[in-house]
Amino acid sequence: MIVTSTDKKAEISEQLCIGCTICVKKCPFDAIQLAVLPNTLPKLLTHRYGLNAFALYNLPTSTKGKILGIVGRNGVGKSTALKVLAGKLKPNLGRCADPPDWPEILGTFAESSFPSLHKEVIVEKQKVVIKPQHVDLVIKTWDGKIKDLIQKLDAEKNSSSLIKLLHLDTLIERNIDQISGGEVQRLAILLTLIQDARVYMFDEPSTYLDIRARMVVANCIRELKSPDHYVVVVDHDMGFVESVSDQICCVFGEPSVYGIGSKLYSPKEAISIYLNGFLPAENINLRNFEFSAVIFMKNY
Ligand code: SF4
Repeated sequence: MIVTSTDKKAEISEQLCIGCTICVKKCPFDAIQLAVLPNTLPKLLTHRYGLNAFALYNLPTSTKGKILGIVGRNGVGKSTALKVLAGKLKPNLGRCADPPDWPEILGTFAESSFPSLHKEVIVEKQKVVIKPQHVDLVIKTWDGKIKDLIQKLDAEKNSSSLIKLLHLDTLIERNIDQISGGEVQRLAILLTLIQDARVYMFDEPSTYLDIRARMVVANCIRELKSPDHYVVVVDHDMGFVESVSDQICCVFGEPSVYGIGSKLYSPKEAISIYLNGFLPAENINLRNFEFSAVIFMKNY
């Protein structure tokens, strides 16, 4: 522990820590978690929120013309990865006190598609639209009729078929605060789909939706696939992500402690890897048991 007479917060020296776990057991607030990571992992560090804070390793990167699916537990960095890809968060490569500049960051990701995505998003300022994880943000940011909001954002003025497909046609005369959770979710997805953008991101689009609506939404997202667009989908529903994606990254780790992006797998490979709980390329167990088909179907 590093603490001086003027400090209000104690810090753990990660260089000096030998992992004895005494502080973990003694802390009365269960505030300390200890993770022992491989020596090679620091080279893959993408972003860290501060000393002793959450760290994301091995950023999954999206390629134009291919839909990237990201799956993983809550708190392992899926939304952090999305923020970095969307240009909302500058990755610090773990150097919180001395953050690197863009040339160094881009050099680190030289072998991935991140530099071309960065060029379009940060340099050329191409539009990025995100379906937020928390759809109540849509309600908080708009006060008025749904119809007016759709008209305002509809770039090509061709949203009527999507409105019908997403069963929103009976709701558009209502005020936005008069619709339920599933309806807000479908509206948030529609508002993302109808905008003219270079990058489309969907953070947990299947939440609150029944299976029929999930299939419709999956088809609508598939329609966005083109050589000019980047599309990224983050979700907990493996079946949904499998049906919508061309390649999948499994983000694993310890919630609120660290997260690691796996290499990209084909959707079928990713499903079986996730159920088996073992990443063959990384030689890592995601958990110490396999999901049976029965448990998976129940969750589905
Ligand atoms: S795990 Fe042990 S060595 Fe590491 S900070 Fe805690 S008490 Fe110190």
